[in-house]
Amino acid sequence: MSLISCPECAKEVSDTAYKCQNCGVQLRKAKRGFFGKLFKWAFIVFNVVMAWWLIAGMSAATKGLEGMSSAHQAGAAVGAGVGAILIIGLWVVGDIILGLFVLFTRPKAG
Ligand SMILES: [Zn+2]
Repeated sequence: MSLISCPECAKEVSDTAYKCQNCGVQLRKAKRGFFGKLFKWAFIVFNVVMAWWLIAGMSAATKGLEGMSSAHQAGAAVGAGVGAILIIGLWVVGDIILGLFVLFTRPKAG
């Protein structure tokens, strides 16, 4: 531990401090802990996977519609619609849950 001078008030503060004890300016960003990082990355990966799943699911569901009768086309469209709603529903619920974990594990200042 050593002392640095605050960029705002020029008082000497510890280089391990997140905030200046004198003027309260933020000196450096608080680091996320292990779980904070884990949930942040889980959140990012989850969004990528869900986006990929939605796109892959939609292209698979609409593939080969040309060869079908109109009744089959309608059925496939309904199936794709229900599938999309399910995926988006899961996506939203997962985002809320993971978002809460990200929020709870966010770094605390000071
Ligand atoms: Zn200061």
